[in-house]
Amino acid sequence: MDLGILTLILVYVVFPNLRYRLFSSKVIKKFHPESNTVVLTFDDGPDPRYTPELLDVLKKNNVKCTFFVLASQAQKYPYLIKRIVSEGHCIGLHSLKHTNAIFTSPMKTKKDLEKSIKILGELGVDVKVFRPPWGMFNPVTCHYAKIHNFKIILWSLHAMDWSRWVNSDYIKHKIIKKVKPGDIILLHDGRGANHAPKRTISALKTILPILKKEGFNFAMAKDL
Ligand SMILES: [Zn+2]
Repeated sequence: MDLGILTLILVYVVFPNLRYRLFSSKVIKKFHPESNTVVLTFDDGPDPRYTPELLDVLKKNNVKCTFFVLASQAQKYPYLIKRIVSEGHCIGLHSLKHTNAIFTSPMKTKKDLEKSIKILGELGVDVKVFRPPWGMFNPVTCHYAKIHNFKIILWSLHAMDWSRWVNSDYIKHKIIKKVKPGDIILLHDGRGANHAPKRTISALKTILPILKKEGFNFAMAKDL
């Protein structure tokens, strides 16, 4: 491989992702609760096919969570953003259109964040928490997140709910079996294979009452 390309890959992809995903105190992947608390997060929405039903399930179980939204989706479906906010959930940013930071230039990374902040600001959302798509970083992601005073939130537990190979029983069993206090749980209310969020929502109808019965509380990402 050309030495220049190898250096670029190391500097732009390998080093920042090792640093921020594994070693940075600026990135929150798990927390240390005083009580039996977890944070439930949904990425890639809002989507009119799934988000309303998810909100119904959350309301029925009296659970508050965090939606890491795509600003392009928020712009298309402002009524969903308004409903998420009015029902007491937290909104975080998950980029404009789900582009992967390792394929995005520094300038485009900056523009993506600024356009997203503008769109969400016009919808009355003051962004405090940010999760980059796929949890991937380039060297400037954290720099711009710092300029905008975002907390960067990744996750400690997921159930591959985006995958076509996973059904709602798998999601249910994985979350219920593995969840521990302090976990940040990653799920999705948009994108994914073969209407993936439908499987997630179906699983949540069982997961939420069980977690509540086991004494779990639900915090939001902005409170970490
Ligand atoms: Zn995503």
